[in-house]
Amino acid sequence: MNEFELIRRYFTRRAKDDAVLIGVGDDGAMLSPAPGRELVTVIDTLVAGVHYPVDLPAADAGFRAVAVNLSDIAAMGATPRWMTLALTLPAASREWLSDFSSGLFEAADAHGVSLVGGDTTRGSATVITVQIIGDICRDAAMQRSGARPGEAIFLTGTVGDAAAGLELLGSGGAATPRADYLIRRFARPEPPVEFGRAIAPRASAAIDLSDGLVADLGRLAAASGVRARLDVPSLPLSPQIRQQFEAGKAEAFALGGGDDYELCFVAPADREDEIMSTARSLATTVTRVGATETGSGILCVDGHDAVEAAAPGYRHF
Ligand code: ADP
Ligand code: MG
Repeated sequence: MNEFELIRRYFTRRAKDDAVLIGVGDDGAMLSPAPGRELVTVIDTLVAGVHYPVDLPAADAGFRAVAVNLSDIAAMGATPRWMTLALTLPAASREWLSDFSSGLFEAADAHGVSLVGGDTTRGSATVITVQIIGDICRDAAMQRSGARPGEAIFLTGTVGDAAAGLELLGSGGAATPRADYLIRRFARPEPPVEFGRAIAPRASAAIDLSDGLVADLGRLAAASGVRARLDVPSLPLSPQIRQQFEAGKAEAFALGGGDDYELCFVAPADREDEIMSTARSLATTVTRVGATETGSGILCVDGHDAVEAAAPGYRHF
């Protein structure tokens, strides 16, 4: 199977999107943005053995490569529209490609994202880069820098599950329903794209959780020039992580573990009711976990104890 057959067989589908004027197969894609909307572009690379275990099923690798980008789109409050895929593979296995593309398209189809181009190369490791292009109304975009002192900090979903799942994967993955749940939270993240879009006009700032709550919220706080006070007992933990791990360990996953792909956002405290009703209407769970104040850094408060947190999150270099 040569490269062109591979592209045709696994990555070329009839476009269902009238805004794709030229798609896979030409030198470039030509896309027609909706009038009056701005473009948002995000890109993320997954390296086998760095971002996911090399034996992760190919369908999960494909799903995840799209999902991590959807998470960045969600954090901007944008609508995902199109994607490109750069794939480096040591070998062209039909089984791997078939599973990979089915996972990739499953995640993309759930949000109406069309694959419009890419690049395919042979290399010594599996490297998957997906870029998503989305659109948004100019005034709606959420930035990391918009939070002010005295606002409320919220999280979607639950935190720590994916890091717990990754640890379980590494230890052979006990085959219980709750271990499977945690592993699936790593393998198949489902970022709150619709919720991000709905909340964007009401939030002051947002970031998606990829490197861990303390690390990512720390970035939001630094970009906004505020200090974030986190009420640790209020962190949303899943029943599965609570049952699988003792409390201290579950909390460590929640504060320091990466790969959640949930949203952390800040909004004026008097918008809480509005935010909660938006969340209910989209079946997203949202929890208020703290507040911004003047200062810098992160303060983790647990009852009477308050400690400055400085978890670095994942660093490549
Ligand atoms: P070029 O030589 O002009 O760079 P390529 O041979 O790399 O073009 O790609 C041929 C066509 O296939 C292009 O339209 C490109 O966008 C598309 N393509 C290549 N690899 C992929 C992929 N993995 N997924 C989707 N489209 C791809
Ligand atoms: Mg060309």
